[in-house]
Amino acid sequence: MEKIRSEAIVKSGLLFILINFLLAIFNIIVGIISNSLAIASDATHSLIDSISGFLVIISEKLAGHKKFNSRRNQIERFTTVIIALIIVATGLELLILSIKNIFDPEEVDYSAPVMIVLIASLLVKYGLALYLKKTGKKINSQVVMASGAETMNDCWISIAVLISAIVYLIWQINIESYVSILISVVIIKIGLEFIFPHALKHHHHHFDADHDHGVKS
Ligand SMILES: [Zn+2]
Repeated sequence: MEKIRSEAIVKSGLLFILINFLLAIFNIIVGIISNSLAIASDATHSLIDSISGFLVIISEKLAGHKKFNSRRNQIERFTTVIIALIIVATGLELLILSIKNIFDPEEVDYSAPVMIVLIASLLVKYGLALYLKKTGKKINSQVVMASGAETMNDCWISIAVLISAIVYLIWQINIESYVSILISVVIIKIGLEFIFPHALKHHHHHFDADHDHGVKS
């Protein structure tokens, strides 16, 4: 029973990583085609979600196997902080780029294929969010439920990107920079949550609660 449950957690995690990675690739392509900062920002965000999902799985595996190997824990912590710093730096860079873009906006070009990818991305994210929430509830996993809730929040970001495209198509008003600022802040927050031990403790607490429930059931 416990084995089926932990397999379901890993499967959900891998699905989260894979889908976010594919979303990143598709959105990077349409971000380049449309010259849209908002789409490029959302692509970066998907890539970072994919990497952080990978990070969570790795630390979960290590925490499970090497609880008393403090050297391994140190290496894990070091790697996590380095990656988190890169995430924060990426967010800050994007934030600066977005603020610059307010004063000197790039010309954007939303073609039909770009709009189709944006709508498809939103639907895929929404489907993933529903799946993770349902699975999380079924196997009683806080981690899976949390990633479902995060994906649901990400749907709102995709909606913001879509709205900025529609606003531009109808009124030729460019609100891309503001959407990018929002996404930069989300990216910085993801990084900071990995760096601050307080937030990390919170994460591990979730994993512990997970194991407890698993033992009981
Ligand atoms: Zn996200």
